[in-house]
Amino acid sequence: MSERPADDGREVEERDFSDEEIERYARHLVLPEIGEAGQARLLDSRVLVIGAGGLGSPLLLYLAAAGVGTLGIVDDDTVDRSNLQRQVLHGEAEIGVDKVDSAARRLAQLNPGVAVEPHRLRLGPDNAVELVSRYDLVCDGSDNFATRYLANDACHLAGRPLVTAAIMRFDGQLTTLRSHRGHGDDGAENPCYRCLFGGQPGDGKQSCADVGVLGALAGTMGALQAVEAVKELLGIGRSLAGRLLLYDALEASFRTIRAKADPACPLCGTAPSITNLSEIAYRPDSEACAAE
Ligand SMILES: [Zn+2]
Repeated sequence: MSERPADDGREVEERDFSDEEIERYARHLVLPEIGEAGQARLLDSRVLVIGAGGLGSPLLLYLAAAGVGTLGIVDDDTVDRSNLQRQVLHGEAEIGVDKVDSAARRLAQLNPGVAVEPHRLRLGPDNAVELVSRYDLVCDGSDNFATRYLANDACHLAGRPLVTAAIMRFDGQLTTLRSHRGHGDDGAENPCYRCLFGGQPGDGKQSCADVGVLGALAGTMGALQAVEAVKELLGIGRSLAGRLLLYDALEASFRTIRAKADPACPLCGTAPSITNLSEIAYRPDSEACAAE
């Protein structure tokens, strides 16, 4: 297993683990790639999760279980009965409750050693850069293109890595973005979301509400997103940066394709025009869970 420096340059102090922590994280502590140093790094990490929905549910559960010390959650929605087919953080009793509150309660039950920071708001051009700057890494599990592009732009400008996933019908996609690092020393590409998919698509894209999504697909992709987030925090294994993972649930097949940085990209290219998000139009009405 290769190791690479973690993205954030943080120095994590040695830590005395309590007996409870040694018991809770025993299966991590015996992994040479994690061990005490890695677990201490996770406990010292701050991750922002955008969306406490289908992807955010497994993502938040596994990050909390892993002992990621501080989890920020951005969501402005309440729990609806139609969410429960895939949003396994929430239950029947939470219908009508703010998702950030429902999520915070469930995560506290799972691991009281994790601090949860609920942000009951919609990520917008006015708050995105400041909010993502408070965290070491961001995971986007949102269900619309406006938020997905905004998260990409804010993370690039704030210099934060972004693990982003999307699901629709039976298809999932996942990648890690760290375009703020430019081209890697090893010649690796670090494209952003705009390099991969161009500008925000126009209206008329179908949403999950229109075309449906297999509930368990959210579990698959959200859990993969948690794996990649932990790898980025620890600097272990091979990053998905520069690669796009595609999952076809009906075919039971995974495919990974190379993703190249675009020198003409308006965000991360050689002559960027996107420098101030308040000047960018993110169309809020182009809802789609899309795997394009
Ligand atoms: Zn780009």
